[in-house]
Amino acid sequence: MKLLLISPGWPKGRLWGELGFKFPSLSLAAIAAATPPHWEVALCDENVEPLDVAGHADLVAITAMTPQAPRAYEIADQFRARGIRVVMGGFHASNLPDEALLHVDAVVVGEGDLVWPRLVSDFERGTLQPVYRPDAMLDMADLPVARREIFAGKGYLLTNTLQTTRGCPFDCEFCSVTAFYGRKYRERPVEQVLTELEVLRKQNSFAFFVDDNLVANRRYALSLFSAMKGMGFKWLSHAPIDFAGDPELMRAAGESGCIGMFVGFESLNQESLVAMGKVTNQATSYLEQAKVFRDHGIGILGSFVLGSDGDTPAIFEPILRFCEEARIEAAIFPILTPYPGTKVRERLEKEGRITSNDWRDYDMGHVNFIPRGMSAAELQAGHDWLNRSFYSFSSMYRRIFKLHRSVQVFAPMNFGFRSAIRRTAKVMG
Ligand code: SF4
Repeated sequence: MKLLLISPGWPKGRLWGELGFKFPSLSLAAIAAATPPHWEVALCDENVEPLDVAGHADLVAITAMTPQAPRAYEIADQFRARGIRVVMGGFHASNLPDEALLHVDAVVVGEGDLVWPRLVSDFERGTLQPVYRPDAMLDMADLPVARREIFAGKGYLLTNTLQTTRGCPFDCEFCSVTAFYGRKYRERPVEQVLTELEVLRKQNSFAFFVDDNLVANRRYALSLFSAMKGMGFKWLSHAPIDFAGDPELMRAAGESGCIGMFVGFESLNQESLVAMGKVTNQATSYLEQAKVFRDHGIGILGSFVLGSDGDTPAIFEPILRFCEEARIEAAIFPILTPYPGTKVRERLEKEGRITSNDWRDYDMGHVNFIPRGMSAAELQAGHDWLNRSFYSFSSMYRRIFKLHRSVQVFAPMNFGFRSAIRRTAKVMG
C-alpha cells in the first residue's frame, strides 16, 4: 500500500511562495511516523518539486494552510477523478471541514497524530469516515519521532525542525493557534527532546523549534536550555517579547545556542495591543527589550500586524524607524487576515467587514476586510512600502551589518526576503 503525502504549492506571486528558503512540513513527517510500517510513504512538496497527479498512490493525504486550500482542492479533485481516496488535515480543513468535504473523502479535524492510525485502518477495511476528530489532546510524551527520511533529496535548507510544546496560554484575536492546539500548554519530556537532538546533530548543528511559544512554561524551558548547553546547536524558535524580562532564562537560552527568535511585536500602539489581546506586550518597553535579546546573542525576526482598528496611515513610518533604532534583524509585516477559526474573523463577520473569501488572497499580503482607520488601498500601499523600505540595502545596512553572532542566519534571511518581495511585486504587477 502506498500513502502519498502532499504539501500543495503556494499561489504564484505570494511572498511565502517566492521565498528561496523552504521548510519541510513537520506535520506530514509526524503523519508518516504514525502510519503502519507495512505502508510505503512518499512526500511531494509542490513548493520544491512538481507533483505527478498521474502517479501511483492508494491513499493521498494533504495538509494546507488557508492560502494553499484552493490548490489542495484542485489536487484532491484530480486524484479522486482517478478513484483514489483523498484525506485532508491542517488548519484550514480543521476550521472548515464542510468546505473541504466538497473535495476530499475525509477530513482530520485538529491534531492528526492520535486519529491517523484509526483512519488508516478504516481505509484498509473500506470503512473510511468523513470526519476524524480526536477525543483528547495528544499527550506530548506519546509524540512519535518524525520520519524525516521523507524529506531526503528535496533540497531543503534545513530539515532539523522539531516541536517540543503545543498550545499557547494566550488567545490573541488574530491567531489560530489556540483554536487548533488548545489553551492548555503541553510539553514533551525533555529527555525525549534530547534523544532526538542527539540524532539530529549528526546531520546538522542548526535546529528550528517550531513551537508557537517555546517559553510559556518557564521551568520546562529552563531545563531544556540547560540540558542543551554544550551540545553545539545553533537554534531558532518563537517567544514573546516579555521573554527579555527573565535574565536567567535569557542567559540559558543564549548559552544553549539560541541565535534567533520570532517575536510578535504586532503594534507600537498599546491600545491596539490590548484590543487584540496581546497581553505579553508593552510597547513602551520594546526598545529596551530588543536590546536584551541582542545582548544575549539572540537576533529577532519581528512581526507587526497591520490594519488593526486603531491603525491609520501614520503607523508605517514609525514602525520602520523603530525597527532600525532597535536594529531588528528581520521582520514580516502581515496584513491583518481574518482566518477561519479566529476571533477576529467572527467579529469582522458580525460587523459585515469581510470583503473577500478568495483563500488565495489570505496570504497576509492582501487586504480582505474593510479597515477602520484607513482605506484598504492605503493599508495595501503602506504594507508594500514597509516591505520595500525594510528590505532596502540602506535599512539592511543600518540593522544587521554589525558584528553579532546572529548575522550568519539573519543576513541570508534579509537577502531571501528582499528577493522574494521583489519577485512578488513583479508577479503582482
Ligand atoms: S499570537 Fe502568539 S501569544 Fe498570541 S495566541 Fe498566538 S501563539 Fe499565543
